[in-house]
Amino acid sequence: MTTIAEPIKRSHRYQNLLTDLKSGNKTILLDGPISTELDARGVTMSSGKGRRASIDNREALIQVHMDYIKAGARIITTHTFGGNRDRLGQDFEELTRGAVECAMEARRRTETEDSVIIAGSIAYHTAQGPNNYDPKQDPESWESDINDLVELLKISGVDVMLLEMVGGPTFTVPIIRAVQSSRMPFWVGFSATDTDRTVGRIGRHESDLRVYDNPGTPVDDALPDLIRFAIEGEKETFKNDGDSGVDIIGAMHCKPDALGKVLQAIQTHGWNGLMMAYPDDVREWDPSISKVVTGNDPVNVFSDHCLGWRRDFPKCTILGACCGFSVKHIAALNQSIGG
Ligand SMILES: [Zn+2]
Repeated sequence: MTTIAEPIKRSHRYQNLLTDLKSGNKTILLDGPISTELDARGVTMSSGKGRRASIDNREALIQVHMDYIKAGARIITTHTFGGNRDRLGQDFEELTRGAVECAMEARRRTETEDSVIIAGSIAYHTAQGPNNYDPKQDPESWESDINDLVELLKISGVDVMLLEMVGGPTFTVPIIRAVQSSRMPFWVGFSATDTDRTVGRIGRHESDLRVYDNPGTPVDDALPDLIRFAIEGEKETFKNDGDSGVDIIGAMHCKPDALGKVLQAIQTHGWNGLMMAYPDDVREWDPSISKVVTGNDPVNVFSDHCLGWRRDFPKCTILGACCGFSVKHIAALNQSIGG
């Protein structure tokens, strides 16, 4: 059992990354999507193979990680998004451990063990489709599963915990609680949708930012408490210079138009630390083929968006890509930042 008195476990290579990020001069790249990239390579999510890639398609998964590293990513994410004991069944432990091993193997083969960070992806929904992200489990067994996942990622050797597509208060709080008690550093990735609505008689356009998984919750309602909780923990445990482990908060899996607004909301609602940004390019989910339809955003459009956030938010020093983008987008972004 860990206690909050223990210091946060930051690996040497992770400390070096933080130093570089805090210098403010560098832009560090995170990888792109794993699932939709595997999908594009024939290890399809629709067949269910995608979720089992760390065992059944090990080489394909290692190759995706290696390709991102070669494209310039210094942070790679484990293929554990949306997977928990309930979802993965009896192979949960082997699949999770295997996913971390594949990331480590890619780091070994590219001889980047001193510099590349492995981020353990944690999310609470299981890709059932927009507006349908509440786990079917009861909250208690669900929280127990999240604790198991965090513990497993930790002992498997990830450098940092990466909370992805969070924002719905009911399920984001237990994830933050789990990573805080693990005493690992963690990053929070908020995801949102923006429905531009027309209001008033003159037809004024108004932005309506909602947390991705929960269309009933405006981002401005959810973020203040979640950001405070990430920093202070339960009952302000970490308030007096205590270290909750949160090093970065940012926006991910958002459409480019919404992403900048989420970054702005994060700053407005109490976060003045480092940020990250990685948009997605999913236009829709096609249930008939269980595949995403992407917008095929050209690499230069993607890079321009990223450079814009880097310019507008000086603390947003991590850039990357999410679902629907590809290795070529990371490579192009790397080129455009002079990497
Ligand atoms: Zn995504």
